[in-house]
Amino acid sequence: MIAYGYTFMEVKNVSKPAIFLDRDGVLIEDFGYVHRIEDVKLFPDVAEGLKALRAEGFRLLVVTNQSGVARGYFEIDAVHRCHDEIDRQLQAHDVTIDSYFICPHHPKGNTAPWNVTCSCRKPKPGLLEQANKEFGTVMDKSFIIGDKASDIECGRAAGIRGIQIDRGQYPKDEKAFGLVTSFAEAVEIILTAT
Ligand SMILES: [Mg+2]
Ligand SMILES: [Zn+2]
Repeated sequence: MIAYGYTFMEVKNVSKPAIFLDRDGVLIEDFGYVHRIEDVKLFPDVAEGLKALRAEGFRLLVVTNQSGVARGYFEIDAVHRCHDEIDRQLQAHDVTIDSYFICPHHPKGNTAPWNVTCSCRKPKPGLLEQANKEFGTVMDKSFIIGDKASDIECGRAAGIRGIQIDRGQYPKDEKAFGLVTSFAEAVEIILTAT
């Protein structure tokens, strides 16, 4: 009984570098509180980029703030359905996400139990810490890719390099390791730095 559980943890905890991926505005188009599967649209260079990162030996871990749950815009199940849809679309390109880490909280939400101040809403590093605990990530070889300064700040708080994709929607983080305008360019920076 003990051996069974232990074996599982061992497999998962083989330490590896990871790419932490913000979801909206990085993997899929950010229409604002995306929660219907028909609105899940991968950017055209994402699947190939993920494959290149995977080939380099990175784990692929999504870290996403989904305060729409706390705000009562949609239920947590809708978030899972969208992630299943991302998986389905990526499957056609023969690449998979290892895991999704979600912050459904917001202190000003109206929906219990999510309307609380948490330690996982980016820019806090809680989601990265959860991922690190589960997967044994090698943080100094890892990166976070985000479209907001808060993603980069989250990485900084956990001691990892951040690459910001400027989609023209949010202020830039001048201290980011890289500042680019597409997913493909973010991948290029990582592969060059690795
Ligand atoms: Mg985003
Ligand atoms: Zn949270």
